[in-house]
Amino acid sequence: MLKIENYTKHYGDFLAVDKLNLHVKPGTLVGFIGHNGAGKTTTLRSIAGILDFDGGTIEINGTDIEKDPIRVKSVTAFIPDNPELYEFLTGAEYLDFISDVYQLDDAVRQERIHRYARTFEIESNLSDRVSSYSHGMKQKLALIGALIHEPKLMLLDEPFVGLDPIAARSLRGYLRDICDNGGAVLFSTHVLEVAQKICDEIAIIKKGKLVVQGVTEELTQKESLEDIFVELSQSEVV
Ligand code: ATP
Repeated sequence: MLKIENYTKHYGDFLAVDKLNLHVKPGTLVGFIGHNGAGKTTTLRSIAGILDFDGGTIEINGTDIEKDPIRVKSVTAFIPDNPELYEFLTGAEYLDFISDVYQLDDAVRQERIHRYARTFEIESNLSDRVSSYSHGMKQKLALIGALIHEPKLMLLDEPFVGLDPIAARSLRGYLRDICDNGGAVLFSTHVLEVAQKICDEIAIIKKGKLVVQGVTEELTQKESLEDIFVELSQSEVV
């Protein structure tokens, strides 16, 4: 579903991500773990097609993102860590706009908006302007906007920060549904207990280099993800 080969990104002279290889198979939920500044957001933004890069290739669902970005975007969703929404629109107008972008017909959009808004408990706020929403409500609206076109690949940057426990549980269910339907999910998190609990695979990035990718159950047979992470932090990157 996602194939990253030798992905490299500089900011000026600074090498932020160095020849990263990461493959995410259909049906797989992958947790992307790393220190502050390790390169997670940079990588996610490039996969989402909103940050250019200097080397390597990224394929989504068999398509090179640089060769056919529109095709790729039609099957991908990205939730940044701090979603910027159109504050002057109401929640309903925002979701209508997103539905227009993805060319969803009326009946489909209404059913999905209703279903997701009810689950995330913001149905009664949809007629209010986004500018009046709390941080968590904005996050929920962004999530609905991401889920509404039923993406095959879902990318999320720190999705659980700021969500209430009920919404976090609903989101976990939706991410699993994407995988059960043959899609895949890659999300960054610092909450290692959650990653260990819900992810099929874990990818750990350190100073711009991928240092671990493996099946969660196998990796954590002898020690917790937190212990693995701490040990890796203390070792030198080769
Ligand atoms: P965090 O967990 O803190 O969100 P991260 O793993 O997402 O961190 P990135 O945001 O990808 O890390 O940053 C990777 C490196 O690139 C950091 O050293 C950061 O300072 C640098 N960086 C990120 N964005 C820019 C930018 N626009 N200009 C210059 N350097 C940048």
